Amino acid sequence: MEYFDIAETWSRDQIAEEQAKRLRSVIQRAMRSPFYAKRFAEAGITPESIKTVDDIRKIPFTCKDDLRQCYPDKLACVDREEFVRMHCSSGTTGSPVAICYTQKDLSTWADLMARSMHATGLRKKDVFQNMSGYGLFTGGLGIHYGAERLGMMTIPAGAGNTRRQIKLLNDFKVTGIHILPSYAMHVAEQVSAMGEDPRKMSVKRALVGAEPYTEETRRRIEEMLDIKVYNSFGMSEMNGPGVGIECEAQSGMHIWEDAYILEIVDPDTGEVLPDGQVGELTLTTLTREGMPVIRYRTHDITKIIPGECPCGRKHRRIERILGRSDDMFILKGVNIYPMQIEQVLMSMPEVGQNYLIKLESDGNRDTMRVQVEMRQENYVDDMRLLKALQEKIAHRLFDEILVTPVVELVYANSLPVSEGKAKRLVDLRKESKGI
Ligand code: AMP
Ligand code: ZN
Repeated sequence: MEYFDIAETWSRDQIAEEQAKRLRSVIQRAMRSPFYAKRFAEAGITPESIKTVDDIRKIPFTCKDDLRQCYPDKLACVDREEFVRMHCSSGTTGSPVAICYTQKDLSTWADLMARSMHATGLRKKDVFQNMSGYGLFTGGLGIHYGAERLGMMTIPAGAGNTRRQIKLLNDFKVTGIHILPSYAMHVAEQVSAMGEDPRKMSVKRALVGAEPYTEETRRRIEEMLDIKVYNSFGMSEMNGPGVGIECEAQSGMHIWEDAYILEIVDPDTGEVLPDGQVGELTLTTLTREGMPVIRYRTHDITKIIPGECPCGRKHRRIERILGRSDDMFILKGVNIYPMQIEQVLMSMPEVGQNYLIKLESDGNRDTMRVQVEMRQENYVDDMRLLKALQEKIAHRLFDEILVTPVVELVYANSLPVSEGKAKRLVDLRKESKGI
């Protein structure tokens, strides 16, 4: 195994020892911020109260609302002049969450990102195109600095303008890309529409993340482009991408435990759950100096994969994100995640690359309408065939979610394609009830 960073070779004991040490020092540092000074004083937390990593359980959680209330600078642990960059989380509701970085924070982040890319098999000789938006979104500059730190020739293509993206991919014989899942399938389709074979392009590896997607979607992207897709995970509150990555074994995402403490908690009770149990991912920054965040409830639902990865790294792995607790919706008393629907749709060869879930209400009854793009090759004029396909999809969905949706078949490429994170769910129930 070739490593980028010595921390990748640490044993579990080394990880635990370093984490306890770093946790103590990050608490000391966090107390310089107005927010944590108050929070820790109220809870009686001092660096001395932390002896082992498990002592983290004594510390109160930090929630998204806390961070919103800290906007713009109540989390700062250094003087304003020490900050050299800020990013925001992409949430479209409520006030934003801002994260500021010192020079050292940017460097640590670039190292983590370069290490992540290296773990997927990318090397200095690769040519890398970053096909996600730049700006406040961390998937732009975060990925960019990591790619440069690894030494790759890096193309800051940004989001959108698909024809130009494809031209750059071809002209510079790009071998590695970073792209959002929904956009990856769109690009592949556009290459085909231009009369080229997307499988013949020079791209070999893709980091795909920033939003939830299923194993079925991964397989589709791999198949369409004849590449390997590695799930890449992060969030602004934890720097951005580079928190977790799938290594070449493609069996869950290693969370870099030298930089983050990983916990899975029961979303209702806050109780820490054992490895293997599904709950809410909770993360603590261990190496950030400007704005440490302690026990952050991410809303992302996943589990720790028990056991060791075949690659030999001891940093634990999490399962693909099942969804966000705030994405989950309840229909007829059943809890449903959009990813359960994607999993069914993307496993059906007749179904195209895009879908949209709409929740509606006639005032008495809630219904779910699923708009599903068909694959062009499967267009038929025969109503009976269309009806049969609609029923087949509805049945498969029922088997997964125990609710029968209204399935609406639509033309390929007719549903909106987002340049950023895809919007999979539209909840019209409140509007139709006139609330
Ligand atoms: P932002 O900070 O705005 O970039 O959003 C971070 C959020 O994006 C995370 O909390 C996750 O909900 C989501 N996310 C990022 N990467 C992934 C991934 N690989 N799989 C699923 N969700 C992801
Ligand atoms: Zn591994």
